Amino acid sequence: MRVVPPWREPVPRDGTMGEPLARGRFGEYGGRYAPESLVEACRQVDEAFREAWADPGFRGDLARLLAVHAGRPTPLTPARRLSDALGVELYLKREDLTHTGSHKINNVLGQALLAARMGRRRLIAETGAGQHGVATATAAALLGLEATVFMGERDIERQALNVFRMRMLGAEVVPVTTGSRTLKDATSEAMRHWVGATGDSHYCIGSVVGPDPYPWMVREFQRVIGDEARVQCAAELRTGVPDHVVACVGGGSNAAGTFAGFADTSARLVGVEAEGGAGAARGRLGVLHGCRSLFLQDGDGQITQAHSIAAGLDYPGVGPEHAHLRDLGRARYVTVTDDEAVAAAVRLARAEGIVPALESAHALAWVIHAAGDGDLPAGSTVLMTLSGRGDKDVSTFKELL
Ligand SMILES: *Cc1c(COP(=O)(O)O)cnc(C)c1O
Repeated sequence: MRVVPPWREPVPRDGTMGEPLARGRFGEYGGRYAPESLVEACRQVDEAFREAWADPGFRGDLARLLAVHAGRPTPLTPARRLSDALGVELYLKREDLTHTGSHKINNVLGQALLAARMGRRRLIAETGAGQHGVATATAAALLGLEATVFMGERDIERQALNVFRMRMLGAEVVPVTTGSRTLKDATSEAMRHWVGATGDSHYCIGSVVGPDPYPWMVREFQRVIGDEARVQCAAELRTGVPDHVVACVGGGSNAAGTFAGFADTSARLVGVEAEGGAGAARGRLGVLHGCRSLFLQDGDGQITQAHSIAAGLDYPGVGPEHAHLRDLGRARYVTVTDDEAVAAAVRLARAEGIVPALESAHALAWVIHAAGDGDLPAGSTVLMTLSGRGDKDVSTFKELL
């Protein structure tokens, strides 16, 4: 387990996790690196989002959908037995209890509602393990939109059940046969397809990555996690604000949404990456999928393949705002191995009766480790976002345990 960079005291800054700077910048990261036609399409999404986000009618419609369809607000669960064993007070923000089983629904409902408002009739999405594809297909069905989901051929073989779910929901799943035939190539292919379809289609990106305004917009759609948790913590925690706020980081959307609720507090923010997908902890400056950020690269600057047991953390980079939060020292980013995550999942299952997604188990693995080595002092209050449920990972657990 490596901690990068060294700890600095959190300094609440005006504007941290507010709107990005001009041209979608978070410090030196972000931007809109895309072909001309997509720059124009992104500009339209930006304009529509700004207008919608300032409109109480849109906010009300989204809040209603999140309540009646997705099951919000999600509970804050004290992990009592595990807390006793670790000597800290651990609270779980239960995104695993949302419809479709992860935080991804928060973002896709927002983008689907925006697409409908823009008069688009179809959602385009990329998916790795199929979680974002299923969420997009779900939101599309709910709002009467079509859905076209790009998925690597290898992932299609590995995730047959989610492919069927998407088709059952009425989505078209398009196999991607280029490159490594996984998420990175599916994303490139989805963007390419959008170039020819910007008039009637909205590209629904699944994390805080991609060209401006996506990193900002997706964080805003996910901030419901942090905003709810802020109120719940104020009511239920001895310290009001938790001492530490922890979430797993693939592209970084559940973490960004969680952090956004606490950026102006004294809470220490910790993002937990997979050892083999540590964009924030170990990436270098680069440009991928329309955005300047930190990516895993080889000696020649080629972006390399990520490897994680958790499909949702299998992305070679991290969203630009996380890169910026890292530089500011406002958040820190740590890594956890596959084995540590699996052990943490078993521990949560047996101590609390909750089988977490492998992604979320990474966040817990850091909490367990940090409580043991003093990084989390005894008696600390810890808020951890449990980003999803483990049903999708049962066959992986079955092979390993
Ligand atoms: C997709 C996914 C993630 C990773 O995505 P972020 O954008 O980093 O939040 C984490 N947990 C679960 C359960 C997921 O499905």
